[in-house]
Amino acid sequence: MTETRRVAIVTGAARGIGATTARRLAADGFAVALLDLDEAAVKETAESIVADGGTALSAVADVSDAAQVAAVVARVASELGAPTVLVNNAGITRDNLLFKLSEQDWDLVIAVHLRGAFLMTREVQKHMVEAKYGRIVNLSSTSALGNRGQANYAAAKAGIQGFTKTIAIELGRYGITANSIAPGFIATEMTKATAARLGQDWEQYQIDRAKSIPVARVGVPEDIAHTVSFLVSEGAGYVSGQIIYVAGGPKA
Ligand code: NAP
Repeated sequence: MTETRRVAIVTGAARGIGATTARRLAADGFAVALLDLDEAAVKETAESIVADGGTALSAVADVSDAAQVAAVVARVASELGAPTVLVNNAGITRDNLLFKLSEQDWDLVIAVHLRGAFLMTREVQKHMVEAKYGRIVNLSSTSALGNRGQANYAAAKAGIQGFTKTIAIELGRYGITANSIAPGFIATEMTKATAARLGQDWEQYQIDRAKSIPVARVGVPEDIAHTVSFLVSEGAGYVSGQIIYVAGGPKA
């Protein structure tokens, strides 16, 4: 695949679902650009991909900052080639019940997830339209269906679904698909932080959560990376505007 090697961008790729997805896409044959806020961690992840024989570049960029997004996408295009795969994965939580939720925590969560996906997609679609080919995957969540203490996050993740369906309609004629993955509980630093905030032991928390999941286990980042791998494959060109719940069962 060397001559036709496609370039993929994964945001929030320093760790968790983003890092595992970047590793998987590199193994699938993509040249991968890993973006994150955490310079040391994202560099380390990219270096481990290169050590395993993959092609990877790491860059620091805040996806909610238009200037940084423009600069980093231009850098990826010049160093790796035009990006035709984009995985909008960067995310944060700032959980609180509505009556305690600050404007700052509302704005921050909306900015990273929604504005971030918008800015990244607007920038990268130029390359996709020119190439008449593209695959966009946006990370939503089962929280989009409603989750206590997550009004900001749920609103952002529901917004991602509407955004995905709309860009699928607008960009389809250029050979571009856009889909969203809505994970259920996935064991990462994000869910570990939730357990800590609730004062619960991490191992016990996962055991308890698994009890309500039909496949009787919690999810791992590989579960999401596998779904991304399918959605960005050449053969998935007729799958667009979909929300795929990857949650070990039909409900969150
Ligand atoms: P994670 O371990 O916290 O990783 C998220 C990554 O995104 C971090 O490396 C973080 O960097 C980076 N990031 C945060 N803000 C950013 C910004 N403005 N610009 C660039 N990068 C930024 O989370 P995860 O569990 O892997 O989650 C990945 C995605 O899946 C998120 O969109 C999340 O909402 C979604 N999701 C996760 C679950 C789950 O159960 N884990 C379930 C449903 C959906 P810093 O550490 O430097 O901030």
